[in-house]
Amino acid sequence: MSRWPLPLAGVGVVALLVAASGRQRQESATAGELLLEPNMHHLGDDKTPEWKEAPADPEKPPLEVKFESSVGNDKEWVLELTSHDVDTEWTLELNGKKFGTLKKVKNVELLPSWHVVPAGLVVAGANVLRVIASDPREDVTVGRMKLVERPFREVAKLGRIDVRVTDAATKQPIPARVTVADASGKLVELFYAEARTTAVRPGIAYTSNGVAAIEVPQGHVQVWASRGMEWSAAKSELDVVAGSTQSLELTIAREVDTTGWIAADTHMHTLTFSGHGDSSVEERMVTIAGEGIELAIATDHNHQTDYRPYQQKLDLNPYFTPVIGNEVTTDNGHMNAFPLPPGKDVPAYKELDWSRLVEGIRAKGAKVVILNHPRWPDAGRDPLTIFGFDVASGERRAQPQKFTFDCFELVNSDAPTQPWDVVLPCWYALLNRGERFTGVGASDSHHVGVILGQGRTYVPSRSDDPTKIDVDDACRQFKEGRVSVSLGMFATIDVDGHGMGDSVVVPASSPAASSNSSPSSSPCLVDAVVRVRHPSWVTPEKLDLIVDGAVAASAPLTTFEQKDGVTWKERRVRVPLPSHDCWLVAVATGAKVTAPFWAMTQPRAVAVTNPIFLDHDGVAGWSSPRATAQTKLASVGVSNGTSSSTAALADLVARELPRVDDGVAIQMLELARDALRADAQQRLEGLAGSAGSAGSDRPALKAWAQAQGRPR
Ligand SMILES: [Zn+2]
Ligand SMILES: [Zn+2]
Repeated sequence: MSRWPLPLAGVGVVALLVAASGRQRQESATAGELLLEPNMHHLGDDKTPEWKEAPADPEKPPLEVKFESSVGNDKEWVLELTSHDVDTEWTLELNGKKFGTLKKVKNVELLPSWHVVPAGLVVAGANVLRVIASDPREDVTVGRMKLVERPFREVAKLGRIDVRVTDAATKQPIPARVTVADASGKLVELFYAEARTTAVRPGIAYTSNGVAAIEVPQGHVQVWASRGMEWSAAKSELDVVAGSTQSLELTIAREVDTTGWIAADTHMHTLTFSGHGDSSVEERMVTIAGEGIELAIATDHNHQTDYRPYQQKLDLNPYFTPVIGNEVTTDNGHMNAFPLPPGKDVPAYKELDWSRLVEGIRAKGAKVVILNHPRWPDAGRDPLTIFGFDVASGERRAQPQKFTFDCFELVNSDAPTQPWDVVLPCWYALLNRGERFTGVGASDSHHVGVILGQGRTYVPSRSDDPTKIDVDDACRQFKEGRVSVSLGMFATIDVDGHGMGDSVVVPASSPAASSNSSPSSSPCLVDAVVRVRHPSWVTPEKLDLIVDGAVAASAPLTTFEQKDGVTWKERRVRVPLPSHDCWLVAVATGAKVTAPFWAMTQPRAVAVTNPIFLDHDGVAGWSSPRATAQTKLASVGVSNGTSSSTAALADLVARELPRVDDGVAIQMLELARDALRADAQQRLEGLAGSAGSAGSDRPALKAWAQAQGRPR
């Protein structure tokens, strides 16, 4: 089916709607115009005295307007009308043929809108125009109708811009996003831009081949070309003149060096196969290429979508490797899984037990399973809450549910109610509990206008060619925690030649550790080198080094240092370590992007590395904070929730709390809590509370103590 110029759901004809702001409304028809109805009508079933433009008493729909025309329309005409407070579908019908619907926008001021009347609908002689309700109980006003005997382009005063987006390096056109806004940055509605190779929404035209022909009402506009966070953004301002065509070439350049890494989005949808959102599967192909995603995991809800035939048809094979996945969507949360075979053999999504759910997913062949948006829609109504998740300790207090997925979605760029900074502490708690989940970033885009790949994950790859990605190897990188989470920035971390997912032995006396004087009193230090990459249009601000869930060291990213470039910052940061094993994560944050081509719904730009595991206790092998706590408690006989001596246990905890970081301390308190009877718990809470207030530098312990008093 031709999708040009604009589809109208459920109706076989096309309609174009636009608010005609700034246009003088004419009370009487002029030459080339036929006044059909000068008054506003109130349709519906309620009294609406607050609506001044029409009688308070309703008329029963449909509204029928009869008129005589001396000629039929042998070419396109336009119906101008004014409508107000429309929420549901109201069909426009001329002589029994549907040709449009009332615009579903609640206008504060009454503005006319335009509806294309295709050639042949108006007949010479008697005509009947009907406005038909889908829900007759809805109250709306409609009227001030006239037929304008000119085509839509003339009535809307459209001018055309032929946009070409080229790669600065090759001078060749490249898939991209074109964004058109008015002088104030507000997106401008685009007309006649729909083509096989484009994905178009108000103000947005993705193009699979770098070319887009768009028409906009005349006036001053800003036009942007962009291609996701690895590329520069180009902007041009121009005056559109009705009836004229201008050519515009916008050149963008690759700015962010991602050699050795590929950009993955592990979470995306189509209207075609998810049944909601607005992106057809063809449009999805165009947006993947246009935002520079190289590994695209298809994750429609309980559906295994194979992008390959659609990608092939659009000649987009050179730009990305598609992978069939599935957002296994249950009443107890959503999990992304890949790779999976095409077709109907989907994992059992009615399973509510997470262990059995993940087992079922793996049985279908999935190598990677991700817990999606763990705090969506918000803390309290999210999947973790079902199990009584404790954000300090990672305990599941309501149900001791085992988590057997591989990855934790830290950034979901289309979940404004679940900002990444509420998800990170959950992940930290799980890492402290000894549950190693790989952090990932994704977009969860269901719509063309929701930026695909804004949240993304960088994956190590032997080849930088998007057609030569080894999917099995990429899956391994996810499972082993060697990937990096990105929202406008991309960070890597190095400790003594080791990176994400590695365990590094850091003996107190090793050269990797600091040789500061008085080793007995000062903490051991380790140098972490963090490189933060970003496009020129993202402003990095701060780097935090997180050890066992708490900020251990920070560095500003607003200053310019010797190793910095226009699109990267490199910082060598001394990180103080506890006396036991620990994990280390780098979190870089930056300003929220508000430019119309990449406007964020998340509060800030961010890059999060996966952990490096620092083996620092002189005992071979890395121990999680929980394992360290278990080892310490074992000396007084605490194991599997029993203790021989309450007093000995409390003494041990009191002795050890000052010697361990908060991550180990909270795990130790949790383990001891389980071992103590209720009457002895108060003593433990007192210990944590006093450790928390002593010098007031351990608020996490105080918070843990306070949380114990609350009902669960
Ligand atoms: Zn979901
Ligand atoms: Zn989703």
